[in-house]
Amino acid sequence: MINQITINGISIPVNIIRCNVRNCYLKFNEGIITIKIPKRLPENDAKEITNKLCARFSARVLKDPKLITQNTVYFKDGDITSPLGINLNVSILNSENKNPSAIVKKHCNSILVKLPKSLNETDIKSTSNRMVFLGISKYLLPTIKSRINVINNTYFRSEINDIRLRYKETSWGSYSKMTKRITINTKLLYLPNDVINYVLVHELAHTKVSNHSKRFWDIVYNIIPEYKIHRRYLRNNGSSINFISNSTKNTNTN
Ligand SMILES: [Zn+2]
Repeated sequence: MINQITINGISIPVNIIRCNVRNCYLKFNEGIITIKIPKRLPENDAKEITNKLCARFSARVLKDPKLITQNTVYFKDGDITSPLGINLNVSILNSENKNPSAIVKKHCNSILVKLPKSLNETDIKSTSNRMVFLGISKYLLPTIKSRINVINNTYFRSEINDIRLRYKETSWGSYSKMTKRITINTKLLYLPNDVINYVLVHELAHTKVSNHSKRFWDIVYNIIPEYKIHRRYLRNNGSSINFISNSTKNTNTN
């Protein structure tokens, strides 16, 4: 079974998971392709479907290279990443633990990721990315929460039950009316402050109006009259984020 594909000269790890799903599907997230295939499907059919899904994904990327080029990131030990302009040291170590973990060390601005020794190369890449973004989310959630609370208290006074930071390929933020929860994409933290604030206002505006009607945009406009500039910025620059500022150590991993 394939474990990576190369599109436009960029090799992307492919992680194939046999599990209890009804249909086969391909997901691209955090620079990794994950393909889920029903457990019961015979090996030959699984191979054929994997190839088909990869070919379809490649075709999509060739039409729209932005889908992968810039946001494909692989964090390595020694990298520096700068969400909200804060330089964070990334340490990735092997450990005896069964499960991966992300530990935030605020006193030395670092994120320590521990990976189980048993991981293969594809899993190392995907798990490292997932854990680094988890660490970034843990580190900066209090900051984002307080920013949302300030804007909410000033303009909205809405009831909010929960605020989360999650890495996503699509959507900069979301609001669930049912749970009164705001979710912000961790990727957003790498964009300029004005753009971040626009997204926070946008999601808070959804606490008043669910859809994107004129009434919705009027609320946004009243708080951020120049909001269209930020929307354009997201469209034009949202897929070309530099997650890695520079490296402090040379490592042999690639
Ligand atoms: Zn919206």
